[in-house]
Amino acid sequence: MDTEDHKALREAVAALGKRHGPGGDTAQLWSEAGKLGYLGVNLPEAYGGGGGGISELSIVLEELGAAGCPLLMLVVSPAICGTVIARFGTETQKQQWLPALADGTRLMAFGITEPDAGSNSHRITTTARKDGTDWLLTGRKVFISGVDIADATLIVGRTEDARTGRLKPCLFIVPRDTPGFTRRPIDMELNAAEKQFELTLDDVRLPADALVGDEDAGLLQLFAGLNPERIMTAAFAIGMGRHALAKAIDYARDRTVWDTPIGAHQAIAHPLAQAHIDLELARLMMQKAAALYDAGDDTGAGEAANMAKYAAGEACVKAVDQAVHTLGGNGLTREYGLARLITAARVARIAPVSREMILNYVSHQTLGLPKSY
Ligand SMILES: Cc1cc2nc3c(=O)[nH]c(=O)nc-3n(C[C@H](O)[C@H](O)[C@H](O)COP(=O)(O)OP(=O)(O)OC[C@H]3O[C@@H](n4cnc5c(N)ncnc54)[C@H](O)[C@@H]3O)c2cc1C
Repeated sequence: MDTEDHKALREAVAALGKRHGPGGDTAQLWSEAGKLGYLGVNLPEAYGGGGGGISELSIVLEELGAAGCPLLMLVVSPAICGTVIARFGTETQKQQWLPALADGTRLMAFGITEPDAGSNSHRITTTARKDGTDWLLTGRKVFISGVDIADATLIVGRTEDARTGRLKPCLFIVPRDTPGFTRRPIDMELNAAEKQFELTLDDVRLPADALVGDEDAGLLQLFAGLNPERIMTAAFAIGMGRHALAKAIDYARDRTVWDTPIGAHQAIAHPLAQAHIDLELARLMMQKAAALYDAGDDTGAGEAANMAKYAAGEACVKAVDQAVHTLGGNGLTREYGLARLITAARVARIAPVSREMILNYVSHQTLGLPKSY
């Protein structure tokens, strides 16, 4: 549940979102949100952040989404990269990155997905090998968001000796213009300011201090970033679902084709009420996951973050679908801005971990059922 501080933050961010609205300049909103301290609410105060947690950052993303102007890179830059650096980075990395991630003057992307691994991240083959004190990184990544606007990308690789066997990931900060690090935009059917990229790393030479944290504790460090990512994706989905639902409710209150507004027909009203309930339930699970994570319970947060991401993704897809339907033909016009959400809503069902992989997780980890793969 929201504390008084959370309510105040929610209202303040909602007001910023309302001023900005859908279709505005995302870079400008990013910069304004940074100046107001919203981008770094989860980062330590000693490094320019707000000293809060993912509970607060998820409120920022949800409210901007509800206003129709979600900032996708919040999922990545402060939530994954900021968290990993704050928890495991060296003092130099913290000084170099955290204040700038917090005030939004610098951005960091995050790359784990690979074309031949997909949902099976144990299969990633981006490999780091030592050359003197330097690292040489080679591999490919796909669907990485915001690489063009990010000053660096946090790349998940594996060390050479860990190429076989269980994943022993290690995380590297790769500045955007490092030689051998190239990107190609993917032509996505998405109406969003942030683009996705295919990346090639061809013997990318990095200094020793590009490695974040301990090369032997990579999995723990990686999960420290992946739980916030799931919680933030839930916030992204809930915000979008709320935005779509609010538009549909407004429309259903006024639009009259018989004697009463269409919202008086239960065939229109009930699915909207169900969508609202589903979004509220998803938010409750998101708040649970965020509270567990912020309290330092990484294991408890893992299950809750997965469930929250699942519930929010499903609630968002259904809310958008029903919102489009409520508007009849207008649901598909550009003017009303709902049709474009049909594809956008699907992102929360697929990324960063698909609906099926969460159901697998719950089947195996929570219910103790055997694996099919
Ligand atoms: C808009 C967008 C932005 C993204 N941004 C980033 C980013 O910034 N950084 C990043 O690293 N990645 C990013 N991704 C990638 C995203 O995390 C992956 O798309 C996702 O993990 C799924 O991987 P895949 O696309 O390879 O699908 P696949 O793994 O090929 O899966 C395809 C289908 O098969 C199902 N499936 C696979 N295995 C199983 C199984 N064992 N049991 C049941 N079903 C299964 C899946 O659920 C899915 O429906 C982004 C993706 C999108 C769409």
